[in-house]
Amino acid sequence: MRCPSCGSLETKRNGKTASAPVGRSGRLKPLQRFVCSACGASFSALRRAAKPGASFTEDFALEAVRLYVQGLPSYRTLARLLEPQAGRPVSRTTINRWVHELAATAKTPLQVSIELAPPGW
Ligand SMILES: [Zn+2]
Repeated sequence: MRCPSCGSLETKRNGKTASAPVGRSGRLKPLQRFVCSACGASFSALRRAAKPGASFTEDFALEAVRLYVQGLPSYRTLARLLEPQAGRPVSRTTINRWVHELAATAKTPLQVSIELAPPGW
């Protein structure tokens, strides 16, 4: 495993991460941690499914937003629904943040129709 701070390959396994994010089918496994013999930096293997330090995977967040968009009455109801799946409380403000983050990346109907228009239209 290459050290992300100095690029050295002189790295050793150094235990596992204490916490791991929750995915759609429950909590993920902890990640292997490494320590660099050259510069002393410690780091963990990257997980593509979740941002570093995130409590939930992007899949889980996406599913929550999908349920919300499909017309669940409130963040409170949604938080209660997701709790058994997550095995831990899901905060309403976290769900709210996911909805806003996804809304910011979504395309408007106008953008979609411009993309779908035939060339020279
Ligand atoms: Zn290093």
